[in-house]
Amino acid sequence: GNVADLLAATARAKPDAAALVDTATAETLTWAEVDAAVDAQVAELRAAGLTAGDRVALCLPTSVAFVIALFGVLRAGGVAVPLPPQGPESELRGLIEHSGARLLIGAAADDLPGDVRVLSAVTAGEQRPEPVEPVGAGEDLAVLSYTSGTTGAPRGVMLSHRALLANVTQLEHLPVRVVEPSDRVLISIPMFHVYGLGPGLLAGTSAGATLVLAERFDVHTALEACVKYRVTSLLGVPTMYVELAALPADELGEGLATVRLLTSGAAPLHPKVLAAIRGATGLGVFEGYGLTETAPVVTTTMVTGYPKPGSVGRPLPGVELRLVDSDGTVGPVPLDPADPDDVFAEDDGEPMGTGLVSIRGANLFSGYWPDGAHGPDGEGWFRTGDVGYLDTDGDLHLVDRANDLIIVNGFNVYPNEVESVINALPGVAESAVVGVVDERSGEAVKAVIVPERGAALSEQQVMDACTEALAGYKVPRTVEFADSLPHSATGKLRRMNLR
Ligand code: ATP
Repeated sequence: GNVADLLAATARAKPDAAALVDTATAETLTWAEVDAAVDAQVAELRAAGLTAGDRVALCLPTSVAFVIALFGVLRAGGVAVPLPPQGPESELRGLIEHSGARLLIGAAADDLPGDVRVLSAVTAGEQRPEPVEPVGAGEDLAVLSYTSGTTGAPRGVMLSHRALLANVTQLEHLPVRVVEPSDRVLISIPMFHVYGLGPGLLAGTSAGATLVLAERFDVHTALEACVKYRVTSLLGVPTMYVELAALPADELGEGLATVRLLTSGAAPLHPKVLAAIRGATGLGVFEGYGLTETAPVVTTTMVTGYPKPGSVGRPLPGVELRLVDSDGTVGPVPLDPADPDDVFAEDDGEPMGTGLVSIRGANLFSGYWPDGAHGPDGEGWFRTGDVGYLDTDGDLHLVDRANDLIIVNGFNVYPNEVESVINALPGVAESAVVGVVDERSGEAVKAVIVPERGAALSEQQVMDACTEALAGYKVPRTVEFADSLPHSATGKLRRMNLR
């Protein structure tokens, strides 16, 4: 099928139910109104010359306009290229050129390539044109999604209708459902990223839930929206939960009184934050792991039905996961006494073997734009850059990205391990650990720490905690305090910028 069929089916099943709520304008649309606006968008795209396979850049925040534009492009047979609307113009221009898009929906940047035509987003309530038959399905390209670029130059990930629809289906058969038809889901993460797009917009549309949309996450307006719209589910990233956890417990408890489900993905969530949220609301946070290349969800604790601090859970039904050692050995990876990483991966005190997470399933991408290079191998496996291990229950723990490895005197240090020791300290809001060039040891560990407001924290306290918990070579050589750390739109630490 075509991804926009999810919308057509819900518009038929519950035409008059509230589909989208825009928190900025309080505008509310029914599913029938969204569906009609999408047909109008198709007509406008065709009038602008769109033919099947053409890329259309979407330069829109999480909003009603984004939803209409996305489904419009997909129903018309185009390829949606969602781009960060507030990104630097030079970056935007580069991505538009790379994608070959000639049409752009959204805010017009000044410095666009000359042949790009800008369309304004269709607004709801326009006359319903003739219903449109969708063009494109299955292996046809639906979305060209640029990765957030936390580790290097952005890459265009080719996602077919098949891959996106597969992940929606895979998410539908869990003991804890990511979205129920009766849910009102607050989506304040970007839809130009596949996390907001898949488990947010597409799964929400398929279920026929009400999607409460906010252009960005602001802790106070988010809580107001939760109360005003009786929100039942929050689609979140760790930076959001860090801010929520910093609120007085009664304020948080009242704000989230109608909420049944909290989810987190895209980056590691510290157990300290989980505990604070549970203390204030009685709710656990279900963590998931995904990548743009997997459209996006791979594992979640919703598979077992209970949050497990430190773990990202198990593969979704229909997704296979295995660990591959650096020499190509396929896991379960045996413990290698000579591999110092394996000592770090502990489950209840038992050292476990680590490996690179590899994935197979119908949700996988078709390779990188434009030629489909580096897609899944001949047997359908895709090897991520993430190092992880499976605990004795079979739950996945992520150690870190292989690329972030710091090598001190030949010993491996994964920043996440050091960060999680630092983050556990009272008074620490957040931290980042990076490798800096060191004449003697090659690289040395450096920690940058954001203290909680009003917290008194000394370099010595940090050193002491690290010395107690970590092998000597993992202890930061230098500690620096900062007001904030650089993050991507989905709250990922941008270690590159920090280095
Ligand atoms: P680039 O490839 O340009 O660096 P990116 O890797 O950040 O960008 P995304 O597809 O946005 O691109 O992110 C996927 C990565 O996010 C995963 O490979 C993993 O490292 C990280 N990640 C996702 N979920 C989690 C999680 N729950 N805990 C820790 N890390 C996570």
